[in-house]
Amino acid sequence: MGGGVVIHAYRFVLDPSPGQDDALRSHCGGRRYAFNWGLARVKANLGQREAEKSYGIPADRLTPSVSWSAYSLRKDWNRAKDAVAPWWAENSKEAYSSGLANLATALGDWADSRSGKRRGPRVGFPGFKGKRSGLSCRFTTGAFGLIDGDRRHVKLPRIGAVRTHESTRKLARHVERGAARIRSATVSHRAGRWFVSFSVEIARDDPAPTRPDSAVGVDLGVKSLAVLSTGETVPNPRHLETARRDLRRLQRQAARRVGPDKRTRRQPSQRWRTTQARIARLHTAVANARRDGLHKLSTRLVRTHGTVVLEDLNVSGMTKNRRLARHVAGVGMAELRRQIEYKAAWSGVRVHLADRWYPSSKTCSGCGAVKAKLRLSERTFRCDACGLVLDRDLNAARNLAALARRETSSPSCGATINEPAGNPRQTRATRATGTATGRPAPTGAGQRRHGNVSTA
Ligand SMILES: [Zn+2]
Repeated sequence: MGGGVVIHAYRFVLDPSPGQDDALRSHCGGRRYAFNWGLARVKANLGQREAEKSYGIPADRLTPSVSWSAYSLRKDWNRAKDAVAPWWAENSKEAYSSGLANLATALGDWADSRSGKRRGPRVGFPGFKGKRSGLSCRFTTGAFGLIDGDRRHVKLPRIGAVRTHESTRKLARHVERGAARIRSATVSHRAGRWFVSFSVEIARDDPAPTRPDSAVGVDLGVKSLAVLSTGETVPNPRHLETARRDLRRLQRQAARRVGPDKRTRRQPSQRWRTTQARIARLHTAVANARRDGLHKLSTRLVRTHGTVVLEDLNVSGMTKNRRLARHVAGVGMAELRRQIEYKAAWSGVRVHLADRWYPSSKTCSGCGAVKAKLRLSERTFRCDACGLVLDRDLNAARNLAALARRETSSPSCGATINEPAGNPRQTRATRATGTATGRPAPTGAGQRRHGNVSTA
């Protein structure tokens, strides 16, 4: 099931040699140079025409305007490069094309925004790129991509084979079965490392889920990565906890060092900068470890279950929450949902989003009674009506799974379960269909198992 062609980005951390590091910087510098050169040219032209207009020169006798299409900019650059940048041959011509293409996009966005053709927040006139603007460069033609039979290097125009920090297996698999076409490669420098991101067209041929009739509810945990309605607790990726601990240590270290002060205009110390760079790197590591764990989870879910039920959280509201744990869970849920939605489309899996107001945590998965209040600190759900005692996240996950089963079996009941929270005894819908108790036996077992997990 599924199928079709999708565009996917594959990103790898690079470990370039010192010479390659220089070459990468040179290419990014070349891109910046061409961008600024083109911008200066367009700006001068606009200024000239503006001035002429103010002298009352008629429109047909103004200095002709410079075209800012990527094609024209490139043509103009090729005519001027020997004079303005005699060193141009040091870099692949793609470096300059990349800067000019970016400039054309930025100018186009600005013009469209000004004329009302482009919606959304107003786009300003592009500014010159300074030395501190991010290093990046995009290659769209030439020799780039993977190297046959070598999963530890990527090929870049002019720069050659660059060692990757990790295996390129995830992309190589698609290339080797002839299902991938690499359209472009973008190198960038962030948090002290070089990355390459390949934009790849992939023909998807995903297997259908092994249990098409099964529905699984997923609740993102705070202590663990997620809790599934099957009773399984998906642990956090191993690297995550280590990285978090290191992060806390570095943040304490940074606090002891001399940071910048806006009021006194004190410059930060070199030691403070070093710690900040390490912190930035660790933040990336934490985010990567978490995303990696979510990818493994989302793939496994769509390969197994015919329906995946997630909560439609008010993510933008949650991420403003000052409680870090909630913040992290909210960001994770948004990412998991994004991943599951596209992966589900590939393998024909149904994604069911529970209504934002559905009280998945406060509802008893045994009898359907809804608690008026459940504090975030209460990690165990205790039902006042039937006496069920269950891990909070597992209870929520089971409610989500039941939601999908209920709606597929009798769609007319769907409306009743989407009532806002605060309705203290919302038993009608659940009693009517009885699906909340559709998983009869394991309450005792689940309870014991989860008692262990939460104290671990
Ligand atoms: Zn109950």
